[in-house]
Amino acid sequence: MTGSNNPSRSAQATDCDASMVTRERGQRQVFCGLAGIVWLHRKIQDAFFLVVGSRTCAHLLQSAAGVMIFAEPRFATAILQERDLAGLADCNQELDRVAAEILERRPDIKTLFLVGSCPSEVIKLDLAKAAERLSAAYRGRVRVLDYSASGLETTFTQGEDACLMSLVPELPALADTERSLLVLGTLPDVVEDQFQRLFADLGIGPVHFLPPRRASEFPPVGRGTRLLLAQPFLGETARALQGRGATLLTAPYPFGIEGTLGWLRAAADVWGIASERLEAVTAPAVARAKLSLGRQREALAGKRITFLPDSQLEIPIARFLSRECGMELVEVATPFLDRQLMEPELALLPTGVRLTEGQDVDLQLDRVRADRPDLTVCGLGLANPLESEGLRTKWSIELVFTPVHGFDQAADLAELFARPLARGALLRV
Ligand code: SF4
Repeated sequence: MTGSNNPSRSAQATDCDASMVTRERGQRQVFCGLAGIVWLHRKIQDAFFLVVGSRTCAHLLQSAAGVMIFAEPRFATAILQERDLAGLADCNQELDRVAAEILERRPDIKTLFLVGSCPSEVIKLDLAKAAERLSAAYRGRVRVLDYSASGLETTFTQGEDACLMSLVPELPALADTERSLLVLGTLPDVVEDQFQRLFADLGIGPVHFLPPRRASEFPPVGRGTRLLLAQPFLGETARALQGRGATLLTAPYPFGIEGTLGWLRAAADVWGIASERLEAVTAPAVARAKLSLGRQREALAGKRITFLPDSQLEIPIARFLSRECGMELVEVATPFLDRQLMEPELALLPTGVRLTEGQDVDLQLDRVRADRPDLTVCGLGLANPLESEGLRTKWSIELVFTPVHGFDQAADLAELFARPLARGALLRV
């Protein structure tokens, strides 16, 4: 359920613009990429995620997604753990049988993802070949793709990166004479609609989203594609899209008022839209956001916060909490630091903030205990032990399950952090 790598316990400091970044390598405790299926299956409504894995994988999916299953879910696990390895051919037959059963029962499925995991039986299975074989068998009816969400290779948000990267070769070509904006990263439909309206009011378009709501709506990509990232953990997909001609726009991420304005400005600049127009179009949403954010700011200002490395959202969210909510950043740790994608965010962090890339969980917990921040943002596995030591925590996984992008969600994003502080205050009383 959680991934770990070999402990090496080495830490080295290097320059990162104005700040210092400390690199840590050691035991880490994070969810694997399978967790991404929870939000991806809600977004791509005609896709099915077939996890080829063990009972552990099935339990992870059930516990991560269990609360969200109201109808027949669009994911399942083909369990291969107990199979005799002499029977690799059997494994392939079993996979074909499970796929056929699903597609028979669910004719609405247009894309089937075969999702790899880390048990050794699965690693030996060539899922790319299996996807090819099944694609040929269901040609014209279902597209079958594969990606790995193994805990040996992915932390929990990297599952989305691997999934979206598998879609890139499938995207149709954009004509060389055309220009369009491609927003990359899963957004709840309500947030996607808000952004669509803002882009339309600004005169930016056509605008496409990846992932799309339906597999039949795959966006085109080509030299006229301007790429705007809604999530900071999609580096591999962004590079694959650049490989197909897209131009990456440099912008902060659309969290909070400042981030959302900067994000929209990056697209507005390409479309030649004057800043007065951007201000006029966004003014009502900015005014609403300022009003509702004010209440949360009262609860957060002056409070000290530490981020443990988990979601890769740590840096943009820390920037928002520091600059718009007045929080003090004790330490901001992220599993990977992709400088190309993070540069505009790093420039907005307060000078001298303690930045860490990677994790040595023991050293990190020692620092949390010494710092005793008011709030620690971390994975589920670390939250309970810290709470039992009287430290308040926030689960980072909530940041991908909750609508937090854009102006209208700025206060909700702040409230995610205000709530555990309020609960802590009540407990003390
Ligand atoms: Fe555990 Fe690996 Fe399955 Fe993830 S993919 S649940 S880390 S066995």
